[in-house]
Amino acid sequence: MSQQTMRGMVYIEPQKLELREVPIPQIGPDDILVKVHLATTCGTDLKTYKRGHHEIPKGSVLGHELVGEVVEAGKNVTKFKPGMRVVPHNSAPCGTCYLCKHGQGNMCESILFNFGAFAEYIRIPGRIVDINTFEIPEANSYEEVALLEPLSTVVHGQRLLKIQQGESAALIGIGPIGLMHLQMALNSGASNIIAVDISDTRLEVAKKLGATHIINANKVDPLEAIKDLTHGRGSDVSVESTGSVAGWKSSLKAVRKGGRVLWFGGLKPEDRMDLEVHHIHYSETTIYNTHHSSPLDVLIAFELLTSGRVDAKSLISMEMPLEKVEEALLKMAAGEVVKVAIKPNLSA
Ligand SMILES: [Zn+2]
Ligand SMILES: [Zn+2]
Repeated sequence: MSQQTMRGMVYIEPQKLELREVPIPQIGPDDILVKVHLATTCGTDLKTYKRGHHEIPKGSVLGHELVGEVVEAGKNVTKFKPGMRVVPHNSAPCGTCYLCKHGQGNMCESILFNFGAFAEYIRIPGRIVDINTFEIPEANSYEEVALLEPLSTVVHGQRLLKIQQGESAALIGIGPIGLMHLQMALNSGASNIIAVDISDTRLEVAKKLGATHIINANKVDPLEAIKDLTHGRGSDVSVESTGSVAGWKSSLKAVRKGGRVLWFGGLKPEDRMDLEVHHIHYSETTIYNTHHSSPLDVLIAFELLTSGRVDAKSLISMEMPLEKVEEALLKMAAGEVVKVAIKPNLSA
């Protein structure tokens, strides 16, 4: 077969992306080839753009959240046919290692990651086709299900945190991830949801999605505000989605005695922080850490998106063509948009 090419946004080195003609991926007997309808920008793409990522070699196409149409299916694939609209997750666990057997496939010792969504076509490897790819129901638009990957990670954290009816939740950082935690807290029956961020754009979306209070941390002391809004006690739970040491500290201080904290936003390997262990111990603070998602989380995320229990569309602020991935990521970093849908079929 002659090698056909497509346009793809290639990660060259930190701070440098380039739109290039690259080969359309060849698929194996268990894989599918998907024509990308849209791919959303994510904090992980932004981190990769800024400082690289151990899973994404230089010279490869960036992007991992996508929806699209199957254009080719390997000979062993029975679940999917050309023409089907699908949403694939970005990874799949092996199912056989020690951690997988413990139901902790999110940390699978040989987890398979896929990327290359900022392009016209993407290969979905057989393991992801089998375990973590779904046909999009006729009733749903592409936009409604596009956030399967990030929502699955939010679901994973929320299943640890177990928010109860009537509880108060302080959300430290409400980028796309925080905005999904907000919707999950509402689904769990949280009554008082306090959203903290430094972007008025994101805070407005939080308000629209049902936050009871929005706090711009550049204008008021968020910890004072959280105390004031929770009868001086602090919130029942807090969720950290800024990925900064300052955010981690604030999330600990935001909760009441006996409160629960979810550290969601990953830190850099070199990051360190002092812990007030005396306070944490005598306050019986419970701290949860969460990383990625297991197939059950992905399934739950799919159900929440297709049923409309989580609104993904409101998190997509605008559409841009492939040429503008870099601009989209910078807009995200500046807090001017929540997420951008990159559409290969838009003209620049
Ligand atoms: Zn993502
Ligand atoms: Zn495994």
